[in-house]
Amino acid sequence: MSTVSPAHQQLLERYRASHIGVFGLPGLVLSHGEGPYVWDVDGTRYLDLLGGIAVNALGHGHPELVAAISKQAGTAVHVSNFFTTQAQIEAAEAVLRIAQAPEGSGIFFCNSGSEAVETAIKLSRRTGRTGIVAAGGAFHGRTTGALSLTHKAAYRTPFEPLLPGVTHVTPGDVDALRAAVGPDTAMVLLEPIQGEAGVVPTPPGYLAAAREITREVGALLVLDEIQTGIGRTGAWFAHQLEGVVPDAITVAKGLGGGVPIGGLVTFGPEVTGLLTAGQHGSTFGGNPLACSAALAVIATIESQDLMAHAVAVGEALVAQVAALDHPLVAGVRGAGLLRAVVLTREIAPAVALAARARGFIVNPVAPDALRLAPPLTITTDQLATFVEALPALLDQAAKESA
Ligand SMILES: *Cc1c(COP(=O)(O)O)cnc(C)c1O
Repeated sequence: MSTVSPAHQQLLERYRASHIGVFGLPGLVLSHGEGPYVWDVDGTRYLDLLGGIAVNALGHGHPELVAAISKQAGTAVHVSNFFTTQAQIEAAEAVLRIAQAPEGSGIFFCNSGSEAVETAIKLSRRTGRTGIVAAGGAFHGRTTGALSLTHKAAYRTPFEPLLPGVTHVTPGDVDALRAAVGPDTAMVLLEPIQGEAGVVPTPPGYLAAAREITREVGALLVLDEIQTGIGRTGAWFAHQLEGVVPDAITVAKGLGGGVPIGGLVTFGPEVTGLLTAGQHGSTFGGNPLACSAALAVIATIESQDLMAHAVAVGEALVAQVAALDHPLVAGVRGAGLLRAVVLTREIAPAVALAARARGFIVNPVAPDALRLAPPLTITTDQLATFVEALPALLDQAAKESA
């Protein structure tokens, strides 16, 4: 990958000289995208199998998203929450509808996943309790409150002390959850599929058990659908595949198709009424630009039947990878188009580098797992070009890491 041009290298240097280094040095300077492809400033094309981390639900430059954003940009970009807009009202109604939220439900719009989690934390405090139970391996964001619920020590330790009263339980273990939840528990927060942990689904029945356990003690069940939501797993939200009705869900990533927007959806009047006038806010949240993007994303997923498409393409991927019968592949995890190719050796970073050199963007989400979260619009044939290249990428990475 030292194949980038001197001009490209120079831009990366300027990045390094002008940014706080929390991301390390980015891999590439990208110039534009189209559908599932992106181009770097040297004109090299890549198949974008990460989709901006499950954000670019419609790919790059989708005409309906471009039209909606362009029209709204010429109408009103921002009005503040002293006022509202038709786009905001329609986006709220659309999200509540796809969440199958009952009468009396509500949404608070913000600008990111972390802010949606922060809103859930404040909602939970309004139960009069302070305990929060989350899962080992959980990722809920990087702002200080959300970070308290994220599990990874490397993210947390430099910033301790974090929020008190947080317990992380063994993921997928119903007995451990039951033991951790009690009369002080305000909220249990769970990802239906743990994205950052390596696309690890919760075992069937676990979310239903969590629903039962939280109901017994009067704690809120909040599901973090930031990565799994907006059609990615083949339903609007992954918990719908399990038939569970939560008290609230967090949404973000795919909702705006790349325009920053997040939200907390509260289910029913009782939970929705926990937060009242003056208790929370956001300057940018619910702005008409982001809301018109969300409306276009939801409408396009619906009109193009992209959830059924995500299921079909995801299943084809599983079958194609299995057919490789490669000794370095253990299998494929996940649902719809939120997937991890699981390896038998911890060479995912080397595979991702080799993939990039061949024009594929994949994410080594764990040492032994490659995350794929491509646009929901990607075709089976486009994804198959990666599967065809995979054996050579694996062999090259294994040789380099030998
Ligand atoms: C990405 C993510 C977050 C954080 O979202 P940001 O927009 O980065 O703040 C929280 N929870 C889950 C499950 C995520 O995937």
